[in-house]
Amino acid sequence: MINSIAPKIFNNRFEPHQPEAGDKVLAYTNGKILIGFGNDGSVVLPRVKQPSDSLRYLFSIDDTRYFLWDTDFPYEEKGFDYVSHFVLRTMKPQDDCFAGMVGYQLYNWYRNHRYCGKCASQMTDSLKERALVCPECGLTVYPTISPAIVVAVTRGDEILLTRYAGREYQGYAVNAGFMEIGETDEDTIRREVMEEVGIRVKDIRYYGSLPWGFDSGILIGYFAKAEDGEEVKADHNELSEAKWFKRDELKEIKDPVFLGAEMMELFRTGNDPYSKESSCAR
Ligand SMILES: [Zn+2]
Repeated sequence: MINSIAPKIFNNRFEPHQPEAGDKVLAYTNGKILIGFGNDGSVVLPRVKQPSDSLRYLFSIDDTRYFLWDTDFPYEEKGFDYVSHFVLRTMKPQDDCFAGMVGYQLYNWYRNHRYCGKCASQMTDSLKERALVCPECGLTVYPTISPAIVVAVTRGDEILLTRYAGREYQGYAVNAGFMEIGETDEDTIRREVMEEVGIRVKDIRYYGSLPWGFDSGILIGYFAKAEDGEEVKADHNELSEAKWFKRDELKEIKDPVFLGAEMMELFRTGNDPYSKESSCAR
């Protein structure tokens, strides 16, 4: 998945670094990121040529430092073009694509919080942490992280997959939805699954999580079992289809990019928590 950069280490500690020639530049505009392509088709990020006040230090991966081009004038460099940030989901190298995603989240956050939401004064950078502070009323805001739940609902040897209506991606996926205020993860799972497919679930098991900066988010993955005797009633405002698939009807997903796809692949290969438990019990 996009955050699989090991053995490299992501360091998001807030540090007041100044740009130097050779540091990498993350520049965005209207949902696009400035990149070039190497001879092997891999992503190439521009590098700082001349230090500028418009470059803001974000984070580093090992010894590589990433700076955000943080002004309304687009950063331009010969051989580099602004392309949809979608390319970051599937391209290599993984560390620059991951940096491009996290940078995109911070880019949106800085742009969307230029003024104080309480008194409308211009916000300033905190000097001690990654935060914006209002010099008039003292309001402090931190980077927005919106959690969403991904839940693979199973029933014995079957998994429930859905297709969303009116979206570009037309493949089958597991259920997913943003958390709402006042909910636990489990509350969101029960509500989302009931809203989307009309069934109750039990025996909820945590699987793992994936930072997903494209939607300012974090995806949190769970497996859940359908209650006995539940009938699928798809919400056709949101879904075009919802149906049970047998394990052997699933196609192999190589190098899954999405958390839900990785969970589908675990189910297909009998490595989901319920299948593993039942094989241990035998
Ligand atoms: Zn204020």
